[in-house]
Amino acid sequence: MKRVAERIGIFGGTFDPPHNGHVAVATDVADALDLDRLLWIPARRSPLKAQAPDTPDRVRVEMVRSAAAADRRFVVDTRELERPPPSYTVDTLEALHAESGDEAELFLILGIDQYADFDRWRNPARVRELATVVVIDREGRGVPEAEAAAHTVRTVPVRRVDVSATDIRASAAAGASVSDRVPAKVAQIIERERLYR
Ligand code: ATP
Repeated sequence: MKRVAERIGIFGGTFDPPHNGHVAVATDVADALDLDRLLWIPARRSPLKAQAPDTPDRVRVEMVRSAAAADRRFVVDTRELERPPPSYTVDTLEALHAESGDEAELFLILGIDQYADFDRWRNPARVRELATVVVIDREGRGVPEAEAAAHTVRTVPVRRVDVSATDIRASAAAGASVSDRVPAKVAQIIERERLYR
């Protein structure tokens, strides 16, 4: 009997912190694409971003693990934090492809903000060979029509959850509760570590 390839979603982000918007997107995309697994891949912090919060990687990973406990399809993959910089998505996809070969079909899940920069990434053509690019649209604006028509990207409908990590950090900095916007365990970690103060 022919074996059906495993369908693997790749969901990268800074996740500082991971929040209910991420969980909703990950769940909706996993449903829409019928994924077997969805990998949450915390991104390496850009040393060039002067404004970046100084959350330690181990704390970010702990928060992502907590958020990813929401669904049995979710898996946390820390490879981008473990290899030396610079870190490129194409390298992550090459590694996943090398590990699973034809046994897996890869779907790279991008927010519209990430997709806006896609052509400036390292080797976008190879990224498209290795994975189907799937764009989620948090603004409800849709993907540029020409690209959708050219089938260079797929879009998936997701629930709209108006939450961003930037807003959560601002609330925490102001001493406000963020427990309405992050999973309970993530709120506990933010509190315990006194993040974003
Ligand atoms: P920041 O506010 O720090 O930019 P963020 O909340 O956008 O952070 P990221 O870690 O950058 O979080 O997000 C990872 C991915 O999840 C990105 O592709 C982003 O577009 C997407 N995303 C984040 N929040 C939402 C949301 N509320 N709805 C849909 N997609 C989201």
